Amino acid sequence: MLAAPRSGCMGHRMRRHCHTRADDQVYAMIGSATYRSARGHMTFDASQLQIVHYPSAGLRKRAAAVRDFDDGMRALIARMFEVMRQERGVGLAAPQVGVPLRIFVMNATGDARDDLALINPVLSDQEGSAEAEEGCLSLPGVTVHVRRAVRARLKAIDQHGHPIELIGQDLVARIWQHEIDHLDGVLIIDRMGPGDELATRKALRTLEEAAPPPVIEKKVSRAPRSASHARRARRR
Ligand SMILES: [Zn+2]
Repeated sequence: MLAAPRSGCMGHRMRRHCHTRADDQVYAMIGSATYRSARGHMTFDASQLQIVHYPSAGLRKRAAAVRDFDDGMRALIARMFEVMRQERGVGLAAPQVGVPLRIFVMNATGDARDDLALINPVLSDQEGSAEAEEGCLSLPGVTVHVRRAVRARLKAIDQHGHPIELIGQDLVARIWQHEIDHLDGVLIIDRMGPGDELATRKALRTLEEAAPPPVIEKKVSRAPRSASHARRARRR
């Protein structure tokens, strides 16, 4: 197993500032890109997309298959490469920038010629098993040991809209498995052992506390809490 050359999704770098963004903010952006997915249309401004951090609910949903390959798709992929590089990652899945579509970008070498976008990816023929440390751009400050297949086959559509079939191993196969997990709403913390559970507890709590409060629908209680409250309520 090759060691992850640098952090990212698959190896992360510690960052002091977490700019957590609520799902609703991302999904509600009015922008230039419109995609038709298996679940219908979605609109957002690709240039505004940023990393979404744990515990955002958007990271836990199964992403929808992509149907259209248009300018909007190209803008999304370009932005995903930009974010992956900014964050020094080796892989990035669309749900990590708040877009619930089955797309991920990767670059295992750092050479721009190795940029690869994979749309509607399907993994098969997984062989072997190895444990290695992984980080995730959506989980800054967290690294866990994850056991994954060493070799795999991947079928997908590439950034040019062409079908592609690849066989990968070691780091490449690990990136595929990590990113496809994201498309299925699975995070590395779902795959960690008891030792890592203890070791990551503090970092996860910090992320949970940094998250914007969930939007809770206010329920108006019909039953006053006390008799005096009830009297006041009747006077109004
Ligand atoms: Zn990740």
